[in-house]
Amino acid sequence: MAGKFFLYQYEVGDIVTFKKPHPCGNCDWRVIAVGGEIKVKCAGCERIQVLKRDKIEKATKSVRKADDQE
Ligand SMILES: [Zn+2]
Repeated sequence: MAGKFFLYQYEVGDIVTFKKPHPCGNCDWRVIAVGGEIKVKCAGCERIQVLKRDKIEKATKSVRKADDQE
């Protein structure tokens, strides 16, 4: 299969931990929209960022289901 290989699956509601913390000190972001780009919201300061998939994959340390912490 030619084409893209995705390191991670991102689904709305997932929690993404980035390698580098946000300036607010938080590393966890919640996925709020997925498309050609991924929209995430900081769990600390609620700032929203839109990242292209290759960029977010490079920045991602782990992705987990939000269910884990309910
Ligand atoms: Zn933040």
